[in-house]
Amino acid sequence: MKESLSVIIPVYGEKEIVPILYNRLVNVLKQLPIQYSIIYINDADPHGCESELEKIAKIDKNVVVINFVKNFGEEYAVKAGIDYCNADWAIIMDCDLQDKPEDIPKLYEKAKQGYDIVWGERVNRNDSLKKKFLSACFYFVFNRVSKVKIEKKIGSFSIVSRKIIELLKNNNSYTFNYIQAVKYLCLNESYVCIEKEKRLYGKSGYNILKGINLALKIIVSCQSKFFIIMVSIVSLASFFSLIFVLLNLCNYLELLKECHFVFLLILFLVLFLFGIMFFSMLILGMYCFISIKNHIMPLQYVIRNIIKN
Ligand code: UDP
Ligand code: MG
Repeated sequence: MKESLSVIIPVYGEKEIVPILYNRLVNVLKQLPIQYSIIYINDADPHGCESELEKIAKIDKNVVVINFVKNFGEEYAVKAGIDYCNADWAIIMDCDLQDKPEDIPKLYEKAKQGYDIVWGERVNRNDSLKKKFLSACFYFVFNRVSKVKIEKKIGSFSIVSRKIIELLKNNNSYTFNYIQAVKYLCLNESYVCIEKEKRLYGKSGYNILKGINLALKIIVSCQSKFFIIMVSIVSLASFFSLIFVLLNLCNYLELLKECHFVFLLILFLVLFLFGIMFFSMLILGMYCFISIKNHIMPLQYVIRNIIKN
């Protein structure tokens, strides 16, 4: 019997891309000795992708469209696809053709050599400078505070085995992140070189706030090491600001009269340290929020309907 493979695609993009992606995908999947299915997760896309996806689902019995009730974010969409998937293998890829369907056979062939996970390793990155810079900052911080390391050159474009699919189904963390979750499992992995294409239509589904929010969620949730670093910064900042405030209080009048510069410097330092403290408090607050949320309300997405022929 043929092996089965599901392609899981979170959708929050431009409607023009949907038929192009579908045609390219089917051309590639038909050539492989597998039984394939395509699972689109429509993350409440506001640009008209839903009707395009439904047209495809109605004519192709290998296509499933899972419609979310609201925009939950890429991570939840990928998780919904994994939860739905019953195949031997799953490909995770973006919907905007930055990941090329033509690279799927390379991933599958490599996985068949005995790997549970094969990542697409970008040899080039056709993204804006801003995106490259923000991404470099994220990896710099993440790889320093997390025990699980993520290589800069990988993204979610990958293939995973049934074993990983089953393990991921059990991960219901509020801060679920596909790459982080797979890396955490430490299973045998490999890489194949891919080229990341330029986005053809529209703009990224991530504005700067959405991106920073996601990055913070991943970084804050990754390890207790981050919590310890933050507690140390807060303690140090509190200690120094206390000393500066005391010095300032003792010498306030003289400093004001005789040494204006020193006074300003001290004031600046106190304000600066308070700034660090407030920032740290914010991160700590987020850490507590995520921990509590993970206990009382783990990952949850709500499906409006599932369209299947
Ligand atoms: N995505 C999603 N929900 C969102 C934003 C993005 O499901 O709220 C999906 C999107 O459909 C795509 C993937 O996440 O398949 C990556 O998004 P995008 O290409 O916009 O991000 P970028 O390439 O700029 O990182
Ligand atoms: Mg993209």
